[in-house]
Amino acid sequence: MDATLSYLDQLIGAGLLIPTGVDGLYGRSGTFEDVICRFEALVTAEGGRDNPEVIRFPPAMTRRQLETSGYMKSFPQLAGTVHSFCGGDHDHMELLAALDSGEDWTKGQEPTDIALTPAACYPIYPMVAAQGPLPPEGRLFDVQSYCFRHEPSADPARMQLFRMREYVRLGTAEQVQAFRAGWIKRAEGIIGALRLPYDVVPANDPFFGRAGKMMKVNQRDQGLKLEMVIPVANPQPTACLSFNYHQDHFAGTWGVQLADGGPGHTACVGFGLERIALALFKHHGFDPRDWPTDVRGLLWG
Ligand code: AMP
Ligand code: ZN
Repeated sequence: MDATLSYLDQLIGAGLLIPTGVDGLYGRSGTFEDVICRFEALVTAEGGRDNPEVIRFPPAMTRRQLETSGYMKSFPQLAGTVHSFCGGDHDHMELLAALDSGEDWTKGQEPTDIALTPAACYPIYPMVAAQGPLPPEGRLFDVQSYCFRHEPSADPARMQLFRMREYVRLGTAEQVQAFRAGWIKRAEGIIGALRLPYDVVPANDPFFGRAGKMMKVNQRDQGLKLEMVIPVANPQPTACLSFNYHQDHFAGTWGVQLADGGPGHTACVGFGLERIALALFKHHGFDPRDWPTDVRGLLWG
């Protein structure tokens, strides 16, 4: 590898990522996808033992759900909404004329009912709430989705569209806290066995604006979010997994309810799949055939 090239340039040079001209929007090679697929199989081997309900949503949710979720309060700068042309013939002529003359053609675009999913677990909470109170043992889900965050960056680990694999637990405070503590141990086992250096630290979400400063302090002080950080492309290690305890936030937001009518608590563990793949390529090299035998055995054995 040419050490003078950035890690992003090296990944593009090796054909693992395909540039599009927009920071944070890349194609992935077959090798890159294979690593993600094999890593997910490892996660499933661990998490599947708890018999989660497996659900896949497309990388979108309803705009209404995004509004209700409170995301626009905390992270308006990251949200993405889908807009479409909804005009008639005359508007169409104007659109084509604007395109022809290189003017802004997007003025007539109108918001649709669809927003891009910011985290894979988001569609689960309104779905569960609509299905009625939780059973006494609570519920557990396995979700995976492409997620959108508007944070263009030349850091290959900060993409605008990336995948998150999550387990989501809903139940009593005790049930969901035990779930989160258990997954920190499991994740340490998986990432350690893949021979990646890691640390588990309190998280720092980019809450927006002045009100966001309070939320940041609250999140840290109450230990609501921990992250597993791994060195990837920067001197600072990168958050590759997160362990979130939302307390009864989604009881208030969506009406997630316990069997006895009390507020449901929730927690989720999220694996940033691209970041984990990038960490593996960083630490073991760009060709998985050259990776340590035990790591290869775990993933392809
Ligand atoms: P979060 O909801 O911020 O905790 O995100 C969950 C996981 O998704 C993080 O631990 C990262 O591994 C991953 N992730 C978050 N933002 C990005 C991004 N911009 N690009 C790639 N992965 C990301
Ligand atoms: Zn989540």
